[in-house]
Formats: sequence, structure tokens, C-alpha cells
Amino acid sequence: MVKLRLTPLAESLPSTVPFVGPETQERAMGRGFLARLGANESGFGPSPRAVAAMQAAAADAWMYGDPENHDLKAALAAHHGCGPENIVVGEGIDGLLGNLVRLMIAPGDAVVTSVGAYPTFNFHVAGFGGVLHRVPYRGDFEDTEALLDMAARVGAKLIYLANPDNPMGSHHPAAVIEDMIARLPEAALLVLDEAYIDLAPEGTAPKLDPEAANVIRFRTFSKAHGLAGLRVGYGITNAALAQAFDKVRNHFGVGRVAQAGAQAALRDQAYLADVRSRVEAARLRVGAIARAHGLLPLASATNFVTMDCGRDGDHARAILRELVARGIFVRMPGVAPLDRCIRVSLGDEAALAAFEAALPLAIKAAG
Ligand SMILES: *Cc1c(COP(=O)(O)O)cnc(C)c1O
Repeated sequence: MVKLRLTPLAESLPSTVPFVGPETQERAMGRGFLARLGANESGFGPSPRAVAAMQAAAADAWMYGDPENHDLKAALAAHHGCGPENIVVGEGIDGLLGNLVRLMIAPGDAVVTSVGAYPTFNFHVAGFGGVLHRVPYRGDFEDTEALLDMAARVGAKLIYLANPDNPMGSHHPAAVIEDMIARLPEAALLVLDEAYIDLAPEGTAPKLDPEAANVIRFRTFSKAHGLAGLRVGYGITNAALAQAFDKVRNHFGVGRVAQAGAQAALRDQAYLADVRSRVEAARLRVGAIARAHGLLPLASATNFVTMDCGRDGDHARAILRELVARGIFVRMPGVAPLDRCIRVSLGDEAALAAFEAALPLAIKAAG
């Protein structure tokens, strides 16, 4: 046996990853999925203009991308009405969450999130030795009051909140978030994950001073923009924190093709509006499929619909297993009481029709 000389912290970590990928499942099954509706990727794909920009950049991929992400930062700053010094670009929100935790959390530091909220954040906190304190959801919503109370009680340095939420698809209006920020404990930084904000109703994104000391908001090209495979996300925050990422980030983390694709996607706001309306139509379609088979679709401000299977986690897990066995890749919340639901990403009509055909069979087989 090889004796690894891992740090005591790394030694203590479980050898788990936040997600088992659909490719891993396909290799295990020996065949591909019919419908890929499990990872909240956009089945509608990216803007054709983004595709063209990436094709044009492909031959230049022998050169590293601009390590400052200068042009992309400038475009994002113009889009959001802040300065480029308020933007940090990275390898998706996931990569930026890792950098943020590395910057802020020493072993033993307190961090607050919700029971069943986005697991990649927790994975990074564990990886840097932070201590996670979790509060339950209130119904199908992340509970901003409970997050605040817990943060005050444990002296949290970071509070994680996704708005809209994954895995439940719920959202709080901007006023709730603004009120939460006004009442943050002094030591706490709000990590506001807005991965789905482009798909949320008007009035969901809080008005924020980019120079506010106690918030970082994260956005991504992975969801509404349909570029999950590209790995580009960004944070908007005060210039001091944005610059601190330079201490730890990968210098060439965001490649040349990725920078070109993200800039073109950002420019194509008409395409984004089109995706938004297709997502709205698909929400209704998937909701109707769920209801037709006795499941209860929850209201969604995202590109997925979470549906209550009406019983406990074992029942929902059985339905999920039977969907997967029929070639439909879907996922579900990991812990009770959220795990009475399955989560179905929205996609094109072919994928939704495959889900519609498989669902009654899966429910019957689940018993
Ligand atoms: C999908 C998702 C992410 C991941 O974003 P990337 O930019 O692809 O890393 C982050 N947060 C939430 C809540 C998500 O659902």
C-alpha cells in the first residue's frame, strides 16, 4: 500500500464527491440516457452567437486566455452597472465558492447554511476545515430568519443562501434579501448564490451597492445561458474582496475559448429572453405531466421543477431509481424532509416527452 502523506485535514475527509455525474451512471449501466434532466443544464443549449464565437476562438486555443479576464470583466461591469474592480471571474460558481472559502475560512471557523441546500459549498467548507451549522428549510424555502439567528449564535463568517433555491426551485422576493442583508451580524459575509436569477420573476434580485462590505453575489453562464460545460461564473462584490481572489485563484483558470463564449452569450440578451420564455412554457408542461400522474409540482423560479411524490424519501428514491432505469436522468434532494421530492430539469420537447412516457411506468414500478 502506498503511504500517502496527506494533511491531517485531508486525511479526515470522506472520499466522496458532491455529485455522481450522469456519465458515471451511463458507464455503470452500459448505455446512454434518453433524457438528461438531472443537472439543471439548459436543454435549450447556448446562443448560436456564443457557439460561433467559441468556434472562431478555437484555433487560437494554443494561447492561454487573458489571465485578467479583462474584456469579460469590462462587459460584465457594463451589464451590471458596476466597476470592473467589483467583478471576479472564475471556473463556474463552484470554483469561486472554493476560492472564497479558502480566503475566508480557517479550521474551526463557523459557517451557516440550510439542511439540504447546495452541497458543493459544504464540500469546500469541509475541505478547508470550517464548521458547518445547518438550519432547516421553512416549508420549501430557505429560512432567512433562521439563517440570521444561527449566524449570530455561532459567530458565522459566511452565510450561504441560494436565491432562487436549488433543490426546491423556490425564491424570496428582493425585499426579503435586502432586509436580511440589513440585519447581518457584523462578522458575517452573505454568500448570495444567484445561479438561477436570469430565470426568476422580475423583482427577485436585490438592489445592492456593489461596494457593500458584507455581500458577495455569484452568477453563472451554466444555467440560463446554457454553457455549463464551459465553466465560467463570476462574483460581484466590493473591490477589496474581488481583488483578494487574485491571491488564490488559478491564473489561467478560465480559458480563451470560454472567455470568448461567455462574452458572446452576454451580448445576446435576445437569446436569453427567448430561453426565459421557453423555460416558462416547459415549467407548465412538466407541471402538467407531474399532476397527471398524482405528483405535486412546486412553484419554480428556475430551470427545473421539483415535484412532491406525496410520501417519504424512500418512495421518491424508488421513483427516481425507476426513472433512471428507464433512461431518464433526474436527481432529488438529499435529505429529509426535502427528499419526498424529485427534481426534473427543463429541456426540449424530446426530453420532456421521454420523461412523460417513463413517469407512469416508474411510479407503477416503485409501488
Ligand atoms: C448549478 C449551480 C451552481 C453551479 O454553477 P457553476 O457556475 O456551473 O459552477 C451553483 N450554485 C447553484 C445553486 C447551482 O444550482
